[in-house]
Amino acid sequence: MNIAVIGAGYVGLVTAACFANLGHRVINIDNDRRKLALLRKGKPHFYEPGLEELIRKNVKEGRLSFAAEIGKAVSLSDVVFIAVGTPPRDDGGADLSAIEAVARQVASTLGSRHKLIIEKSTVPVSTGVKIRQTLRQYASKSAHFDVASNPEFLREGTAIHDFMNPDRIIVGADSAKAKEVLTALYKSVKAPLVITDLNSAEIIKHASNSFLAMKISFINAVSRICELTGADIQMVAHGMGLDSRIGKKFLNAGIGFGGFCFPKDLAAFVHISETLGYDFTLLKVVQDINASQVKHFLKKIEDELWNVRGKKVAVWGLAFKPDTDDMRYAPSLEIISFLKSRGAAVSVYDPQAMDKAREVLPAVRYAKSAYDACKGADCLLVVTEWSEFKDADLKRVKKLMRQPTVIDGRNIYDPAGMKSLGFVYRSMGR
Ligand code: NAD
Repeated sequence: MNIAVIGAGYVGLVTAACFANLGHRVINIDNDRRKLALLRKGKPHFYEPGLEELIRKNVKEGRLSFAAEIGKAVSLSDVVFIAVGTPPRDDGGADLSAIEAVARQVASTLGSRHKLIIEKSTVPVSTGVKIRQTLRQYASKSAHFDVASNPEFLREGTAIHDFMNPDRIIVGADSAKAKEVLTALYKSVKAPLVITDLNSAEIIKHASNSFLAMKISFINAVSRICELTGADIQMVAHGMGLDSRIGKKFLNAGIGFGGFCFPKDLAAFVHISETLGYDFTLLKVVQDINASQVKHFLKKIEDELWNVRGKKVAVWGLAFKPDTDDMRYAPSLEIISFLKSRGAAVSVYDPQAMDKAREVLPAVRYAKSAYDACKGADCLLVVTEWSEFKDADLKRVKKLMRQPTVIDGRNIYDPAGMKSLGFVYRSMGR
């Protein structure tokens, strides 16, 4: 099929490259010329394992190209994915202005040849209906189109694998034609295809992310009880997770979730529920517990350092999770801003996110390596659980530090092992 994907971000670019790799002809459109310039050289503007190779291969084989203008690209396509950002507004609701702007531009290209417009971005329920109304308003009378929802569940860091091997593909469509096109599009992806109406598909995405966030906040709340009683959250989580009704995943206690999905999708789900007349208090508590985890981590830092002023603190990990360079809503931002406000000298290291971090965190020292960050440090904070940190030579780390204090926000080390190496070691919930 001929596909246009509007938005070349973490979701749009992966979607475009993967569909091209499945044999479709894809044009990926973005209005950010800086990103396009990089993409035209075969370079993604963010770190995602395997993506650069996939882009280069499909560009070379003539199935993937990039464009700045929506008009021509959409007129050449049968299927149009909208994958632009839906950032949070101050009131928690999703800012859908980019979605509307794109819908209006797409409308002007519609004619008698049928096109399927698919929302890939995460949006509040009823957005698909609004997109359809907007297309009707701004398109010519003869325009022939359908609107469908196909929310994306990929995770940054394993995005290509997730796109190609999803647990399920959700298709929200109200017409037979839309269902037929989407079924054909995903024919070679082996996963259950769940076909629903538009509104249900949109709710599936928000409810899934909110549920996963709830699971993280739940285990974090239990981790606080563990700390208060001397129990070990990892043993508790293991014992819970073996119950197949609960499952092992998303039971890692720590400083909580960040990133572009969970915080904003949770806020948007709370907001749309309120707009509809339902007070989703459960999810508000999930948000509160998540915010309290970072505060709890900051308290551990103060407990250990006493006066933060003048101390040298090494921070391992800036991205909101491993295997990505995404700094959006990363817990490291709040932690580092606290350290700076208290007068600490902060030295940071992340295997991939240093460049993106420089744009938002200017006044810190960017170390050359994980070890370099630890030189003369009074305390080391583990903020993101990269494998590089799990595999680090801790004896070397101890020699480099002024004081051997490690505060681990992701529970990546064994407390007994750390003690035997001579560290003062604090972690979350154990
Ligand atoms: P992103 O900010 O990385 O990408 C959005 C892209 O759209 C940007 O490159 C931007 O330049 C472009 N854009 C904005 N307005 C445009 C316009 N008018 N015309 C052309 N291009 C335009 O965001 P993302 O992380 O890819 O997320 C996109 C959507 O997918 C969001 O709704 C998000 O919630 C959802 N989602 C994200 C993830 C994830 O892991 N990042 C996973 C699943 C779903």
